Amino acid sequence: MAEEPAENISGGAGGGGRVEAFPDGEPKTRAEAAVDELGDMYWEKAYGGQAAFECLVRTILSQNTSDKASQPAFDELIARYGPERDPEDGNPERVDLARALADAERSELAETISSAGLYNQKSKVIGEAAEWALDSYGSAASFDEYVTQGEPVDVRETLLSIRGVGPKTADCVLLFSGGQDGVFPVDTHVHRIARRMGLAPPDADHEEVREHLEATIPGEKCGFGHTSMIQFGREYCTAREPACLEGPEACPLYDQCDRVGIDELDGEAVDPADTVEP
Ligand code: SF4
Repeated sequence: MAEEPAENISGGAGGGGRVEAFPDGEPKTRAEAAVDELGDMYWEKAYGGQAAFECLVRTILSQNTSDKASQPAFDELIARYGPERDPEDGNPERVDLARALADAERSELAETISSAGLYNQKSKVIGEAAEWALDSYGSAASFDEYVTQGEPVDVRETLLSIRGVGPKTADCVLLFSGGQDGVFPVDTHVHRIARRMGLAPPDADHEEVREHLEATIPGEKCGFGHTSMIQFGREYCTAREPACLEGPEACPLYDQCDRVGIDELDGEAVDPADTVEP
């Protein structure tokens, strides 16, 4: 079974979930069968336990960029502002991350995360989220407690109320920090693959794809369904050159896939939404 890469939104070895054995059994839906196959190819894991505020920051950094670009930015941010940084006098000191980021000079924060792209915008969102967490909960630790112990529906609503936090970011925090079953965050890879495969309507938006997947995949399989589908999107079902354009044998999910928007004869791939008559 493959190792989950360290450069992944779930955080690799440090926060990349626990390997779990899920009982073998007949999948009840096509979506579950696809996720079972992805689990066999990559990993079957359960997630949860990441510090929620760190997870929020990590996910904001990953917006509109690859994990490969955002991971170094996150590492830099933690090295400069993180809970166990050494202050200038060399004495180790525990620092609340929300406090440190709320107090940070925006220009210094932006420079720290510059490898993630859109760093001015992201430093603003992160700084405001830190101020919000302090105002609302008093510390990053209290915010963590709320995310892990609150009702998932309420927590999701709360996260969505933060400026710059959309459904994918909120769902990643619920999954990787709250360890909530039945949460299938939809990023650009999941959005594309689910519609190509016919697991959701071709013109479904991110929220509709999420609803279809969460309704057809058992809750405990949603976490690794999300991370392994992203890996599959990087390796096989890429946006412009899906593996099946090289022939059926090039894609392990070929027999399970409707290939919506894929023209195998002309060797072209379009967004599934472009196949819908206006
Ligand atoms: S058959 Fe093509 S479109 Fe379907 S999952 Fe494989 S690479 Fe993607």
